[in-house]
Amino acid sequence: MKKSNQRRSELAIFGGKPVRTMKFPAYRPIGEEERLAVDRVMRSGILSRYLGVWHEDFYGGPEVQAFEREWAAYFGVRHAIAVNSCTSGLLCAVGALAIGPGDEVIVSPFTMAASATVPLWYGAIPVFADIEPEYFCLDPKSIEACITPRTKAIIVVDVFGQPYDADAINAIAKKHNIKVIEDCAQAPGARYKKSFAGSLADIGVYSLNYHKHIHTGEGGVIATDDDTLANKLRLIRNHAEAVVEDKGDTDLVNMVGFNFRLTELQAAIGREQLKKLSKLLSDRVANCNYLARELSKISGIRSATVRPNTTHSYYVQPFLYDEKVIGVHRDKFIESVRAELPATELRELEGTQISGGFVKPLYLLPLFQKKIAIGKNGFPFTSGSNPSTQSYGKGLCPVTERMYEKELFIHEFMRPPVTHKDLEDVVEAFTKVYAHRDELR
Ligand SMILES: *Cc1c(COP(=O)(O)O)cnc(C)c1O
Repeated sequence: MKKSNQRRSELAIFGGKPVRTMKFPAYRPIGEEERLAVDRVMRSGILSRYLGVWHEDFYGGPEVQAFEREWAAYFGVRHAIAVNSCTSGLLCAVGALAIGPGDEVIVSPFTMAASATVPLWYGAIPVFADIEPEYFCLDPKSIEACITPRTKAIIVVDVFGQPYDADAINAIAKKHNIKVIEDCAQAPGARYKKSFAGSLADIGVYSLNYHKHIHTGEGGVIATDDDTLANKLRLIRNHAEAVVEDKGDTDLVNMVGFNFRLTELQAAIGREQLKKLSKLLSDRVANCNYLARELSKISGIRSATVRPNTTHSYYVQPFLYDEKVIGVHRDKFIESVRAELPATELRELEGTQISGGFVKPLYLLPLFQKKIAIGKNGFPFTSGSNPSTQSYGKGLCPVTERMYEKELFIHEFMRPPVTHKDLEDVVEAFTKVYAHRDELR
């Protein structure tokens, strides 16, 4: 074929003009209020006030304690316990539930890795259940099939901002006398019926890391209504072993503590962030509703449904992609959309904020494939007093694998302060790639 006869593609992935080059605006939940709050703490001279011994300051300083009170009141829980990350909060939760070697904890393969790996630190075995094809949270039926006499807890995840099926899963837990830990890092402000995510299980854990809806740079909060658990959680947060004797606590199970303390500076920021959550969330949800409506007009693309009687907080917005209808593999299509749209300010190095698949099913990580976790002898998988027979082969969770490999994509274009015009550009990029889909085959 002669070169002059070749029609140059309009798609940016093949060198055409992209729909947009001006970066999307940065998500900046931190503002003047937080700056003033930090200034207040700086002037006080007390950047943290914890003591890791049984003393008034065992519970932290005034900002930490005020932050905890305000968090508990907002989310309707009896105890809010500030920690330095959601990961450390999840560790405290596993510890407080007296989980140990020989125990099994049912986890999700489709989440940030920490929500599935924390049982390992207590010598317990993560057992992966599969997810729901509509909501991507743990599937109650799959959970039931994973329960054994060793099962001590389930770590559910409100993934993407969708609360887990609390009625069904809490009932299963009750029936088998096991506990539920809710990882609601992605779902602050989401609701299940009238209750907030984070208050649905025995223990809920929020994240305040930089990427979350509201943040303190790094940070987390543990929520529970149970006084005994709250006490253990606070002990594990702050050097339990050095505190229990003087405090008069005699239950020593997992009372080996850490330093998981949030600073006064972060707590002061967190108090201001909490005031902003509801507005930040409603703007985000409105943007998602617009994109759900517009992108679902493309045949083969469908906004994921929201569980009845819940609200979604859209940490990311999930869509389902049908390769049979569009005739192009999801990854090729999403790569083409990426080429049409720019990155977001402050996150330039990550590129355009859209991707296919979320995370590789966690049981496929080398940690599980090689069964090397704590030490070099396979503990807790194959060594120790109670070796497990758990296998982590490909095919273990077919729904998760399908979502990862071809059916799901997620984006973050909905973070305020994007404008209507910004969102229209996103829709235009999809419409353009769809119109030219034959060139992608
Ligand atoms: C972000 C996240 C975490 C970890 O939060 P950190 O505060 O960074 O430890 C855990 N689980 C989920 C689902 C998350 O999205």
